[in-house]
Amino acid sequence: MNNSSVMDTIRVRIAGVAPESVVDGSGLRCAVFFQGCRQACPGCHNPDTWDPEGGEELSLTELVGRLRLNPLLAGVTFSGGEPFLQAPAAAVLAGFLKGLGLNLWVYTGFTWEYLRSRQSEPGYQELLNLADILVDGPFRLAEKDPNLTFRGSSNQRLIRVPESLAAGTIVLWEPQRVVIR
Ligand code: SF4
Repeated sequence: MNNSSVMDTIRVRIAGVAPESVVDGSGLRCAVFFQGCRQACPGCHNPDTWDPEGGEELSLTELVGRLRLNPLLAGVTFSGGEPFLQAPAAAVLAGFLKGLGLNLWVYTGFTWEYLRSRQSEPGYQELLNLADILVDGPFRLAEKDPNLTFRGSSNQRLIRVPESLAAGTIVLWEPQRVVIR
């Protein structure tokens, strides 16, 4: 089976797509919101994404057609909902998008440590290995801070995935600050 017929066959359930977003990671990004999440964080901004039977089911080929990828995009973001609940399909989509030269941010309610301890779960290792940045952990209302960049609560971390895997310890991503003199 070639790549395109694989993408026709694999189905995924999404809550929606934001073809051009500047709030879901660094630079102009296309965001895919996966459907289904079990974390039930109080204060979650997207409770409509919790129901694993909600949203819309479509093939990866149909989803790629909705993304309206354009040359100005810095990358793609997987958010939700919980992308790792559909890790095998998300990993195939991630591989396709990375092949186009796009970088990948993944938001997850799971922690880095949890995901690293569950590498035998289908698709987990593949999806993690394809992510450039992982924003990890559930949203915690008590640790909410509107001044944080690209995350809602201070327990969540912006993790450089390739660097962290290579170092064997978490390497954090920091937003670049522009100094105007
Ligand atoms: S992990 Fe994210 S999508 Fe899931 S309940 Fe928490 S804030 Fe909402």
